[in-house]
Parts: sequence; structure tokens; C-alpha cells
Amino acid sequence: MALRNVERERFVADLMRRMTLAERIGQLNLLSVGSAVTGPIMSVGAEDKIRSGQAGGVFNSIGPQVVRPLQTMAVTETRLGIPLLFGYDVIHGHQTIFPLPLGLSATWDLELIERTARAAAAEATADGVNWVYSPMVDICRDPRWGRVAEGAGEDPFLGSLIARAMVRGYQGSSLRDPRAVAACVKHFALYGAAEAGRDYNTVDMSRLRMLNDYLPPYEAAVKEGVASVMSSFNEVDGLPATGNKWLLTTLLRKLWGFTGFVVTDYTAINEMIEHGVGDEARVGELALAAGTDMDMVGEVFLKHVADLVASGRLDVAQVDAACRVILEAKYDLGLFDDPFRGLSDDRVKNEIMSPEKLSLARKAATESIVLLKNANRLLPLTANKRIAFIGPLTQDNRNLIGCWSAAGDWRKTTSIWQALAQRFPGHDFLYAKGCNLIEDQELLRKLGDGQVTIDEKSPAQLLEEAVQVASQADVLVVSLGECLGLTGEASCRSSIGLFDNQVALLKALKATGKPIVLVLMNGRPLTLSWEDEHMDAILETWFGGTMAGAGIVDILFGDANPSGKLSMTFPRKLGQVPIFHNAKNTGRPFDPEQPDLEYRSRYLDVPNSPLYPFGFGLSYTSFEISAITLSSSTLYRGETLTATVEVTNLGDRRGAEVVQLYTRDMVGSVTRPVQELKGFRRIELDPGETATIEFDLTADDLRFFNGDLDFVSEPGVFRLSIGANSRDLQTVEFELLD
Ligand code: BGC
Repeated sequence: MALRNVERERFVADLMRRMTLAERIGQLNLLSVGSAVTGPIMSVGAEDKIRSGQAGGVFNSIGPQVVRPLQTMAVTETRLGIPLLFGYDVIHGHQTIFPLPLGLSATWDLELIERTARAAAAEATADGVNWVYSPMVDICRDPRWGRVAEGAGEDPFLGSLIARAMVRGYQGSSLRDPRAVAACVKHFALYGAAEAGRDYNTVDMSRLRMLNDYLPPYEAAVKEGVASVMSSFNEVDGLPATGNKWLLTTLLRKLWGFTGFVVTDYTAINEMIEHGVGDEARVGELALAAGTDMDMVGEVFLKHVADLVASGRLDVAQVDAACRVILEAKYDLGLFDDPFRGLSDDRVKNEIMSPEKLSLARKAATESIVLLKNANRLLPLTANKRIAFIGPLTQDNRNLIGCWSAAGDWRKTTSIWQALAQRFPGHDFLYAKGCNLIEDQELLRKLGDGQVTIDEKSPAQLLEEAVQVASQADVLVVSLGECLGLTGEASCRSSIGLFDNQVALLKALKATGKPIVLVLMNGRPLTLSWEDEHMDAILETWFGGTMAGAGIVDILFGDANPSGKLSMTFPRKLGQVPIFHNAKNTGRPFDPEQPDLEYRSRYLDVPNSPLYPFGFGLSYTSFEISAITLSSSTLYRGETLTATVEVTNLGDRRGAEVVQLYTRDMVGSVTRPVQELKGFRRIELDPGETATIEFDLTADDLRFFNGDLDFVSEPGVFRLSIGANSRDLQTVEFELLD
């Protein structure tokens, strides 16, 4: 490794000696060439810029027919033949689409998540992509924000492990592997904490909260060797992240030891003008001086850096530092040896959407599903019941791939209805659409394109038909939720319940007295208090990707047993937001034993507790977790404490349980959360089978940032709790001693 780095240094230094200043600045420019655009502008004159060495990379261009000519241009027509990076938003799969990241995180299955990233990298490289804008690891506690769909939820411990698994999956053991891609952890930093859950909004938080709760997943990705980092749109400590030197240099490079390159988010340098920190030249200066290396689409570096260097406002060494890390990434990817690495028509044909990838997508869709309620064990269903499938998402393909599925083709998805036909050939299930997914005209106008098909029949007719179909059935399976455009970037909502027309359908169906299974597809926690009270069973299926329908049918009929667990709290009402499990106590905590005590930290109109807590999810079988055995009631530094439980599958079918361990630091030099996730184990057990699970803890696992911003563990009493979710826990105590 050290040897390679010496070679790399020599290679890059030699190349840079031959580069003019303009060519070095050119490497810092990233062009968007293609159709998928997430920002207000497109790169113009891309081919001329590539030919004249004014581009270090290109994104939104995929496929051998598109990538090959552009890369050929770069390596044969530019003076020095430096290859381009080809970036793309590969977020939850490339062409085979896996569940939304929020859904994938609900699997708590790190090996599976790593495999999905690996599969995505294999497909993307065949299409000529060598750099992906993932993982998105922004911790989020506000489901109004549309981008919660893209991340791993609210918890820094789970989020960190998922970040690492994804980086491993994308990058493999060597970036030179033609099936590996350079990953890009984003959005650095704190993007998920936008005020009021409104995208791009101000973020303002204490260093303690940052370091303890929001920054760990980015750091985890860096520790896993992530090749690049994307700076976020929001401000951090009053300065846009892209121009924040503390963030991009002190923290990222000096404290965390990051050695890759930093790319901005889409036109984020230009947007610093609107943030109000200077004109175009000034924001360019701020960004480069802060540690930004590559300018996505905005071309501020291209326009201003040479003048800024000439006038002495920027040091040429800063340009060189940025250019160097970009060239190093290209070197690490093996692009100087083979600029077309991975790119192959044969691989496109044989590897993209291969049977293995589709079966992985089906497994991922199945494992991501969270069973929120199952009264009277209504699920799983048996196909001989008269089942009516109702709801606009039953026959929907368009929305299944969810947001950020850039290369995904929704026409290749399996809907619930198609999966039923495959699973039960010749079986006639009853069907009624019941309602349009959305009827709010203004919202429909904003969503544009064909995500929502408005039926020719009137809403009243649809409803009547559904009630009539329901009357012929024994059980109703009703598929409702969001459309894909309600999730992802710039897709925030100020209410997060099912739409009124959908609830009206559920009410009419409820009045038939038939048992109802509610199948939800959506990209954020929803408020489901009414549904929880009135539906018999509820399945949260997110947007499950290419094989969504098959995964849902597997679960509905018991071919698979649900094992998903929420990675984000579901509130009872939106007014509880932000609501998350690792909150702090107050000086006047609410006491459920004395609910009427006044002047307590509570709401008058809703309990403090969520509807479905973090870590929650049911199974068709039941598990018993034994009392906790601790290897000792004390833990000395340098030693290990082991907490042991036995888990037994008490039911009659195989299933997986995610056993979760939380701690609480009872007294700290600064206040500590009421609980923190410190471990989990996902295990599969046969009926009657028992497994022993051991969790090892050391003083290092109990560290946090204290008032001096030192990362320490402090002696004292800790509670240790184990359970199947963050609410239903058994608790013991131990003491950490010096
Ligand atoms: C998004 C990023 C994305 C980039 C490139 C931006 O608008 O915030 O997540 O990677 O566009 O498409």
C-alpha cells in the first residue's frame, strides 16, 4: 500500500509538473452532461470544455454509447490525455433498483446492504460509471423533509454501520477492480437538520449535538476509506458548508484524516451568493480556501480561480492541493491504465438486471418491509380466502422505484398485481382502484409527469365500486401511500398523513366490516394514528424497488416472514416532530405513572410517546428474549463487559429478530441521552430454536463528546437495556470504573 502511494505520488507530481495552471483548474470542474438534472442549470459547451481540458469529470452520462466517446475525447484530444471521472447518482441500485435507502436501513442487515451496494457498483461500472454519489448518511429527525427517504434514519450508530457497509460494497477491496466505484459520502454536513424540515433551509446546532449525533456516520464513511465527500447546501455555524474551512479542512482532513477529494453539491458554490456571503469571485475564493476541490456544474472555479491566484487572493498551492486529490482518485481507480475500466456492452447485457441481482432485489424488498400491526394474526393470508385487492398502488408500476432511481426503469418493475399473477397463476383476485392516489389539483400540478393517473371514473364511482368489490370478499388488502415525487429532494410536506381521499376510502371500506390489511408505500414516517386504531394489519413497504410487488406478495402470503424494524420514529401527530429515541431528559420529565402532574414536559393534546418507536417491527412468529446476564456489574477500562441474552422463537414459523442493545449514561459532565443504541444482532431462528446472543462492551463504546469537545467515557453508573425495539426493553445496571 505504502509502495503504491509512493508510486502514485511520483506519477501525480510528474503529471502536475506538466500541467498549466489552466489545466490544473480544469480538473476542478465537474460538468453535468445528460438529461437528469437536479439543479436550475445545465452545463453548456461540454464537449468543447472536455477537449480543452476544462473538465475533471462528467456526471449524468451513462452507457457505453455515451461514455466511450466522451472518455475518448478526454484521453485522445486533450493535450495531456487525462481521463475523466464519470459520476452518477447511484443511490439505491443502478438499473436494478433496491428499496429506498430508508427502507434498506429498516432491514438492519448490514451484509445485505453491502451486497446491494456491490451489485449497484457492478451494474454502474458496466455502464461506464466510476464514481457514485452515495451513501447519503444525513441523520434526520424530521419526516417533513423529503430526503429522509435517501438516508438511514435517525440513529448515528445504525447510520454509521450502514455508511461503512455501503462504502465497502461500492469500493470493494480495491478501487482498481473494474467492478468497484469510488463512493461519495454526502451531504457534508448536517443537511438532515434543516429547520422546519424544509429543504435547503438553515441548520444551526451546538457542537455537542453535531459531534455526538450528526457527524458520526460521515466520519464512519471516512474511516472506511470513502474516496470522496460531497459538501452540503446548508450552512454550518453560519457559513455554507461549501465555504466552511472548519468543516472541510480542520474536521474532515486534519481531525478525521480524510485524504480523498471534496466535491460540492449541485451549484453549491454559486448558491453561497444567495446565502449572502459574497459575490461570485468571493464565494469561489471561500470555497477553494475552505477545502472544496471540485465545483459541481457551477463553473465558479473555472471562471475565477486563475484571477484569484493572479491577484494573490488564492495561493497556487491551494489549486494544486485540490488538483492533486482529484488526480489521485483517478489513479486509484486505475483510469490512467484503463480509462474505460468496466465499461462493456457484454457486461451491460449479462450483468445488468441479471437473475441474481433481481433475486437480491426481491430479498431486499422483502426484508425492508416492516409489519406495524397484525391484529388476530390476520397475516399471513391464504390464497383460498376471497381477497379483494384495492387501492391505486395495487396495479402501479410507475412509483415503485421511488425517488433517486436515475437509471432505473419503472417499466421493468413488478407491481403487486403482476406478482400475484406470477405467484398464483390462474387465480382470480378481486380488484378495485378505490381512489386516485392524489386528488389535490395543485399538488398534482407540482408533481408534473405521469406519477399519478387520474381515473376516468369519478372519485364517487371509484369509491362505490371498491365498496361493492369489498362486499364480495373475506379480506381486503388496500395499497395506499405517497407517490415517488413526494419524496426525495425538494419534496417536503407540511402534513405527513395519508391524503383525505385515501382515508375516505379506508373509512368506507371499514364500514363494510371486512378485515383490512393496509399496505403502505411511502418514503418517510407517516402519521397513522387513525389507521393504527382501525386497520387490522399494517405493512410499511416503502418504495421497494424493481421487485417491490414480489416482496410484498412474499410477505402477504407468508412465503417470507417480516423482519424489518423502523430506523426512524413514527409520530402520532406531526406536532411531536422532531421526535427521536435518543433524546435528552428534561428537568421536568413526563411521568407516565402520574400523567396529570402539571408543569411537566408534555403536550396537552397528545402523549409524548411515538406511535411506532425506533427499532419497532413485528413478525409472524413471536420471540422471547430472556433476562439479561452481565459478566460483571463493573467494567474497568481496558476490560470487556459481556451482556448475554437467550432468544427463542416461540412460534411455528422461521423468522428473524433484531435484538437491540441500548445504554444510558446516568450522570455525565454534560447531559446525556435517555438511551443510545450501542449494538444489535439480526438472527434467524427456526420454530422452537434458541440462540445465545452476546454483546461485548468496553469503555470505548461509552465515549461521547464532553463540554471540552473531548471524546471520553466517564466513570459512573450506566443502564443497559436489551429488547426487540427501543421501547420494550429489559434493563440492568453496571458501573464503569477507572
Ligand atoms: C443533490 C445531490 C446529488 C446531486 C447530483 C443535488 O441536487 O443534492 O444529492 O448527488 O444533485 O445530482
